[in-house]
Amino acid sequence: MKKAVFIDRDGTITHDIGYVHKIEDFRLLPNAVEALRLLKDFKIFIVTNQSGIGKGFFKLKYFFEYNKKVLTELKKHKIKIQKTYYCPHKPEDNCECRKPKTKFLKDAEKEYGIDLKKSYVIGDKKADVELGRNASCKSILVLTGNGKKTRKEIKPDFIAKGLLEAAKWIVKNDKTQ
Ligand SMILES: [Mg+2]
Ligand SMILES: [Zn+2]
Repeated sequence: MKKAVFIDRDGTITHDIGYVHKIEDFRLLPNAVEALRLLKDFKIFIVTNQSGIGKGFFKLKYFFEYNKKVLTELKKHKIKIQKTYYCPHKPEDNCECRKPKTKFLKDAEKEYGIDLKKSYVIGDKKADVELGRNASCKSILVLTGNGKKTRKEIKPDFIAKGLLEAAKWIVKNDKTQ
């Protein structure tokens, strides 16, 4: 079985201005490329809540365009994202896919043969940390994006300054397992 790292997008890999969806606002966070390169022994997935779509702030096509930009940019650096799982719903929709619900991780488990117990979730919000917990992965909070606020709300397995420190911890932790 394969190991995976499920990574939040906005505020974790890329700069988040809140409901970010315009190409001109795209910016990778510092060391994001270096971090993702370190995770070469893992399958990497993006898992993102995009309630801005459900709330009517922007159309699905802008989400696709923006996300394509993210993936293309990462590909230039030879980083492959297996799949982007996105939830377009509002919290009130009470859907099955919005983080911290585990539907997407269960899908990946089946579709890609992922061992969730040997996998990790990285993100900057409470829902990311809870997602890791709910799916029996290890959860890492990054202090980029919303992370500093989140730190007061919940205790993850590890707190990292950013994605690079998170990736380093995963590599170290993985060796001792
Ligand atoms: Mg985020
Ligand atoms: Zn959903």
